[in-house]
Amino acid sequence: MALINEHFLKLQNNYLFSDIAKKVNSFKVTHPKEKIIRMGIGDVTQPLAPAVIEAMHKAVEDMAGKDTFHGYGPEQGYPFLIDAIIKNDYASRGVFLEPSEVFVSDGAKSDCGNIGDMLRHDNSIGVTDPVYPAYIDSNVMSGRTGVLEDGKWSDVVYIPCTEANNFIPELPSRRVDIIYLCYPNNPTGTTLSKEELKKWVNYALANDCLIMYDSAYEAYIQDPDIPHSIYEIKGAKKVAIEFRSFSKTAGFTGVRCGYTVVPKELNAFTLAGERVPLNRMWNRRQCTKFNGTSYITQRGAEAIYTPEGKEQVKKTIDYYMTNARIMRESLQSCGLRVYGGENAPYIWLKTPAGLTSWKFFDKLLYETYIVGTPGVGFGPSGEGYLRLTAFGDRDDTLEAMARLKKWLL
Ligand SMILES: *Cc1c(COP(=O)(O)O)cnc(C)c1O
Repeated sequence: MALINEHFLKLQNNYLFSDIAKKVNSFKVTHPKEKIIRMGIGDVTQPLAPAVIEAMHKAVEDMAGKDTFHGYGPEQGYPFLIDAIIKNDYASRGVFLEPSEVFVSDGAKSDCGNIGDMLRHDNSIGVTDPVYPAYIDSNVMSGRTGVLEDGKWSDVVYIPCTEANNFIPELPSRRVDIIYLCYPNNPTGTTLSKEELKKWVNYALANDCLIMYDSAYEAYIQDPDIPHSIYEIKGAKKVAIEFRSFSKTAGFTGVRCGYTVVPKELNAFTLAGERVPLNRMWNRRQCTKFNGTSYITQRGAEAIYTPEGKEQVKKTIDYYMTNARIMRESLQSCGLRVYGGENAPYIWLKTPAGLTSWKFFDKLLYETYIVGTPGVGFGPSGEGYLRLTAFGDRDDTLEAMARLKKWLL
């Protein structure tokens, strides 16, 4: 008899985006002629950079020749991409990594989920709230979260990030072994300063806590004082794993490539209190369960770091960030309270008149035909907020804001 991992049964089956899809579909049935503008799901809309396309075409040609064909590559990624990552994303900011500390993958979501393979089931977990759902659900699957009570898992420490604390998470009052931080943040679009991030690194150093740092949106940072990597903070290599993705940086959501940094200095502990380096464990895990990202994809990712690639990728990010500015200004001029959108492609808006997230979502859909994401779908502290993304087309963004102004003013 095959027994299942019963922790899976604890997962809530009402996945946020399928609930939204259902609501949008029933709206479409009753309003077949209205043009819906989707500002909900966090997917990009602009095509890949020409430099990426060119590199991928060339890589396809490589695969056609006997001498240039590539079969299985290194599980950790090709040196050409790892070197480009180290030089451009880290050395340029004064962070020095060894090639064996960088693990190229098929994206940050898989790595954020898989990383738990290395960690015991009874670690206590801390998350900022609201939160990217994958961090929690992957821990539910491993039995780390306890039971769900009033929308909260009993063994998860929720650290509220709301208007009340200006979206700056306070250090946890209860012990946490593993803490997930995502900055620039999805869903709130807010950031942490170097000083704020330093508090977390110092907390982790003092408490032997492991930080899972998701910086999938670092490319959107405009303010020069905001850290792009947690390793810009002294001591962070001893306490943090960093996840990066080319998905939002360069429109790779459908191509699939990201990477994870596991520094050699980083340890976790056996139950007996013995230190074990995580770098070797992650390498072992990847070599066992992962056979690498495709050569064609990695050549495409490498091209992001060429002078043309950098310029083209920046242009697309500027395009999205201009959308974000337009959205912020329009929403503010309607008297709404908005957060984020300055160093991230997300706008987090406070629902007017104390409406719940879902109530405001419905009104927005039925009265302006705009789809947002209800904040409460990201955690209890998201109640009373709604997320809008700046990943849309410029024309759609402008039209959505014109509709909102007409509706609200
Ligand atoms: C989009 C996103 C990612 C990227 O995931 P990929 O699997 O690389 O596409 C990671 N973390 C957060 C918070 C995201 O929003």
